[in-house]
Amino acid sequence: MTVQIRHLATTQSDFEATFKQVLHWSAETDTAIEDRVAAILADVRLRGDEAVLEYTARFDGLSVPGMAALELGQSELKAAFDSLPAEQRTALESAARRVRSYHERQKQACGLSWAYRDEDGTLLGQKVTPLDRVGIYVPGGKAAYPSSVLMNAIPAHVAGVEEIIMVVPTPRGEKNPLVLAAAYVAGVSRAFTIGGAQAVAALAYGTRTVPKVDKITGPGNAYVASAKRRVFGEVGIDMIAGPSEILVLADGTTPPDWVAMDLFSQAEHDELAQSILLCPDAAYITRVQEAIDRLLPTMPRAEIIRASLEGRGALIHTRSMDEACAISNRIAPEHLEVSSSEPNKWEPLLKHAGAIFLGAYTSESLGDYCAGPNHVLPTSGTARFSSPLGVYDFQKRSSLIEVSEAGAQALGKTAAVLAYGEGLQAHARAAELRLKDGGQ
Ligand code: NAD
Repeated sequence: MTVQIRHLATTQSDFEATFKQVLHWSAETDTAIEDRVAAILADVRLRGDEAVLEYTARFDGLSVPGMAALELGQSELKAAFDSLPAEQRTALESAARRVRSYHERQKQACGLSWAYRDEDGTLLGQKVTPLDRVGIYVPGGKAAYPSSVLMNAIPAHVAGVEEIIMVVPTPRGEKNPLVLAAAYVAGVSRAFTIGGAQAVAALAYGTRTVPKVDKITGPGNAYVASAKRRVFGEVGIDMIAGPSEILVLADGTTPPDWVAMDLFSQAEHDELAQSILLCPDAAYITRVQEAIDRLLPTMPRAEIIRASLEGRGALIHTRSMDEACAISNRIAPEHLEVSSSEPNKWEPLLKHAGAIFLGAYTSESLGDYCAGPNHVLPTSGTARFSSPLGVYDFQKRSSLIEVSEAGAQALGKTAAVLAYGEGLQAHARAAELRLKDGGQ
């Protein structure tokens, strides 16, 4: 059965209007979810562990006598790693090594990162400090995501964060050994089998058992996203991720089956995921459509893929590769594949994307698991102004100022003038008292 994916051409007169419809999606907040999350957060804030235990029993079907039973000890994480088949252990370690190696290059050395002195001896600089304690949310309601453990915990570890607290729901107490093993490999400090809004609340406010963290990172469902949005300010958060997206920019030289499968790879996440092809070769677009129709019935998640492609997907015929690059910049996709025999010719034209995958051999799925860069990426066009999760999300900067006696003379006069202008007497006097003549 043909997949009814939308075909567009930039030459058609209604292109702009139709293109806008393709990009639009409604992220309506469900008020029932919002109300429930607000109540859970308030309850955990008030009753701590007791509330977390009750919600874990209610939403995850996991009843235990006390919080101690919801903590995974280091020996349990190691045992999970040891229990894995050798092939999985090797794959996990290899992925972790590559992710660590990539993120180590992002690290800014802690301490004074740079400083300079004015002619009068005033020192100005910047100091870099890792966050003390972070919480990483690993989703676990409907599927397990060991790669998310690596992608969140490793940059935190590389940044120098001392304590990494992981939370992961384990419905009915079913623990995923790969997730536990990934926590062991990534150097998670403590791990709890809790999830949803109650886990976010426990991390944000702290309970007797779960330590309060400074920042919460990691993806999750609508309950998790709403809870993260609500605790922002009390703690830092990384981002609120929308449905996954892939944009393939093709010049027609990659086998169409490869491109079709890459479009599927994001569509299979979610009916709301978005897969788009931009290509100047109309005959090639037809071959990709044929590949989609032939390959879809072979996919176990065919129904989700079909719903995503038919609901939000598009195959767009452009006048040229240059025009395709310009449209890609307007979309600012989460994942951008440049499926071309000359990817480096087009890359300089591409400004906005969470991650850029160059050349026919660079399937986006390699980046999801093991290439090295982070797979937590900005979605919904936010790549226009934000970046992948990285070491920089786990480090912060403080400015340093050391004013000499000579420096205080000139600066003090400037500050006092501006402070009087603002009507802030104490500010002005604090500066003037340090002047040689006391501001007389
Ligand atoms: P999850 O861990 O996010 O959510 C499970 C929790 O939701 C449960 O523990 C429960 O507390 C809460 N919950 C469920 N129903 C509830 C209800 N009726 N009332 C109150 N709380 C309720 O796991 P999930 O559901 O599998 O969702 C994972 C999400 O994360 C998916 O949307 C997936 O696409 C996304 N994800 C994104 C990335 C990425 O990098 N962007 C990676 C992995 C997963």
